[in-house]
Amino acid sequence: MNPLDTLIELSSQMTLEHAEESRGGLRYSTTKTIESSKPTCYSPKESRAAFVHPAQLPNGKSIKLLKTLLSSACERDCFYCPFRAGRDFRRATFKPDEFANLFSKMNQSGFAQGVFLSSGLAGGGVRTQDQLLDAADILRKKHQFKGYIHLKIMPGAEKDQVFRAMQLADRVSINLEAPNTERLARLAPHKTFIEELLRPLRWVEEIRRAVPAHQFWNGKYPSTVTQFVAGGADESDLELLTTTHWLTKNLRLKRAYFSAFHPIRDTPLENKPAVNPLREHRLYQASFLIRDYGFEVEDLPFASDENLPLHSDPKLAWAQLNLVHAPVEVNRAGRRELMRVPGIGQRGAEAILSARRIRKLRDLSSLKKLGVIAERAAPYLLLDGRKAAVQPALFGG
Ligand code: SF4
Repeated sequence: MNPLDTLIELSSQMTLEHAEESRGGLRYSTTKTIESSKPTCYSPKESRAAFVHPAQLPNGKSIKLLKTLLSSACERDCFYCPFRAGRDFRRATFKPDEFANLFSKMNQSGFAQGVFLSSGLAGGGVRTQDQLLDAADILRKKHQFKGYIHLKIMPGAEKDQVFRAMQLADRVSINLEAPNTERLARLAPHKTFIEELLRPLRWVEEIRRAVPAHQFWNGKYPSTVTQFVAGGADESDLELLTTTHWLTKNLRLKRAYFSAFHPIRDTPLENKPAVNPLREHRLYQASFLIRDYGFEVEDLPFASDENLPLHSDPKLAWAQLNLVHAPVEVNRAGRRELMRVPGIGQRGAEAILSARRIRKLRDLSSLKKLGVIAERAAPYLLLDGRKAAVQPALFGG
């Protein structure tokens, strides 16, 4: 198989990995619609480029990201996974230098500017991790690739391999898939939650604390992310968000990705119904409320089944429960209180704090000029002691 055909074979199911895709957004939004996670083809000539995805990097920059496996041969049998052992499809494998050479050419021709590299497990976690490290090493040293690399840590990898990955990559990740041991057993009975998945994430943080930044790629610590198969193990949003919050607080996880379960033919979960993709969106919104807006997990408006309502934005649902009868005074509230109001984001809260040092804020039009979505915020605000009056003309009717 020529290298391009190998790449096409290997990348065919990579939409399951959200990686740096802009889906879910990097910033909280109450209005954002769910973007397609379909791969992007850049021209008819490049129509086979189903492996290059639009991606947003942690610094906000947009790039074309090649997402691929090094090998789709896997000895594990995770219930949800298209690459599981024994499933009948054509497998493909790159040698590390073969992949690095191909990617380097793609990069030089402007076809891809960064790479997300994962792999099925073949010959154990240590051997597979070595292959991934070799590929990244060849890219950095032989091809002098200075762009973005997101490298997967394999279940069973050793601590010195994690360190090496951190010296080569801008981001490292290991997918927890489920929020705890019990739930993981329903998805991947041969993966161990604590030893194989959580421990490498702990090592990343231990290494970050012990080793100075200049020893890492570009003189910076790589960020860490993880991914969950949302709904695959019938877990609740509360379980997913509790684990995400713990990881963010204790291991400085940059973010969690949520991939709504959908059944794959010829897997043990092929008859399990797909999870509504809107659930992903609500989980992203809730996780950003916790990470960036000072919300605690227990603040979120979970229903009795411990899931977030699908029909309602979690920030709006919280405000309807808590702020309708106790509106926030714009001229006195702290940053955190302001950010709890729908329509006021991080920048809006900062702008309000600056503006009110100069003058009192008395009407919605002043808030609008500060970047607040005034119509949305109005029901939950007091402006100098008075309930904000929404003027239809202000918002164009
Ligand atoms: S180890 Fe990874 S590639 Fe292999 S079956 Fe499990 S999820 Fe799929």
